[in-house]
Amino acid sequence: MSAAPKKDPTAVEVEVREKIHLEILKRTGAYHANDHVLLPSGQHTTEYIEKTLVTTEPSFTEGLGAVIAKHFAQWPVDVVLSTGPGALVLSHCVARAHPSRPIVVYGTKGLSGGKRRVTLPVEFQRLIRTSTKVLLVEDLVSTGSTLNLLINLVEQLGAQVVGIGCLWRRTSVELAGRSVFSLVSRDFPTYDPAQCPLCKKGVPLNEEFVRRRHARKPSSVQEPKEVP
Ligand SMILES: [Zn+2]
Repeated sequence: MSAAPKKDPTAVEVEVREKIHLEILKRTGAYHANDHVLLPSGQHTTEYIEKTLVTTEPSFTEGLGAVIAKHFAQWPVDVVLSTGPGALVLSHCVARAHPSRPIVVYGTKGLSGGKRRVTLPVEFQRLIRTSTKVLLVEDLVSTGSTLNLLINLVEQLGAQVVGIGCLWRRTSVELAGRSVFSLVSRDFPTYDPAQCPLCKKGVPLNEEFVRRRHARKPSSVQEPKEVP
């Protein structure tokens, strides 16, 4: 009897780690697996992640942030930079756990002429200067466009990107040859409804996520208008 081919121990470790992290994301309610989901694009898929829920459990976020910090512990970091509320919560946790005790700075996202834009508030500009070592943190990386903007922002200020860490990265993302450390790195297949294998098998379609977007409006409150 021949022994089963042994897997590379590092690959096994990465696999196990990834499973643990997926389980954590599942417990926040952000990650749904083994489903048949209708996406806002009209495509069907087996997995879905709700970005806004990813960093809602402080103890999970702290734990995941500490793993990212540990990965970059051997490199000195002056500033942890992110953009977007979810990524900011995570970047706080990364900075808190990093031995260099970096400060936390964030850019604000916007659109200009239909193009994405990241702006660094003026108060932060003196904190990122020539030779400042910057660690970029993102929650989910799906196209890499936000990270590319952050890289450009750092380089424009003469500072240096020493690393990029995120919770989740779609494996197809390329960032100009830069390596990205991600706790989970996977792509879920999306199908055209006509070619969807789950439809063919007769698995019921979960329209919950799309329906919720249409049926519900975000809660908001406003100050009353002043009566002249
Ligand atoms: Zn389907």
